[in-house]
Amino acid sequence: MNFTVVTIFPGMLDAFASHGIVRRAVESGRITIGAIDIRDFAEGRHRVTDDRPYGGGSGMVMKPEPLAGAIRCARDACPGAKTILLSPQGRRFDQSEARVLAECRGIVFVCGRYEGVDERVYENHIDDELSIGDYVLSGGELAAMVVMDAVIRLVPGVLGNENSPEADSFSDGLLEHAQYTRPPEFEGKPVPDVLLSGHHGDVARWRLESSLVRTFLKRPDLMEKRRFSVEEKRILQKWSRAIESIVREDDRENE
Ligand code: SAM
Repeated sequence: MNFTVVTIFPGMLDAFASHGIVRRAVESGRITIGAIDIRDFAEGRHRVTDDRPYGGGSGMVMKPEPLAGAIRCARDACPGAKTILLSPQGRRFDQSEARVLAECRGIVFVCGRYEGVDERVYENHIDDELSIGDYVLSGGELAAMVVMDAVIRLVPGVLGNENSPEADSFSDGLLEHAQYTRPPEFEGKPVPDVLLSGHHGDVARWRLESSLVRTFLKRPDLMEKRRFSVEEKRILQKWSRAIESIVREDDRENE
């Protein structure tokens, strides 16, 4: 899969592409990451990429000609790629969007700066607009790296079997279970016995319950949307009975 980032700061991608899972994905040939410098398509000695907004007001707007030239160059190099503008006004990026994007042949990320891009570039050259959250960054580069990172993990073969993305939070609508590693006791807190038992069925049941507890406590909104499996309902009914019994006991003591 090919990723191309259209930006005025191509150097920002260097650290991203040269560490960890992303570096290994590049080295294995499963993905390519390239950057196109918008300044290379700007005219004049100063290669200016921004200009004052029509109608006045503060800030600058990205000039359309260099940006459109850079996007055309990126698309010509990867026909069929999807062109995505990073923008706080876009649809909110999430794990299900990452799964859809992981099916693409290539993605061209367009990174805005200043007050954003000229509307005509948006209308003529952009297929989709994504936001990484309701806050305003100074540029689209960090947002492009966030989206790329989430998508790259889902490209087949990138994580390897021992590190499957299927267990990650959100992949099945729940947060991932609690994780422990050695030592067996740390600052007075032991690892739950079941994880040391070697009993795969018990470990799987414990993990499912841990996922449900964490989702219930940290992201109850995810529970509201969920259709529960038989096993999940059994766990929820167990909690419900335990809570009822605590309340009954409390009522008795206060009578
Ligand atoms: N004036 C613009 C507005 O209010 O919509 C914000 C421009 S912002 C300072 C500069 C660039 O950062 C944007 O063009 C976009 O590419 C990027 N950016 C800022 N916040 C973002 C977010 N939450 N998600 C994705 N990209 C973002």
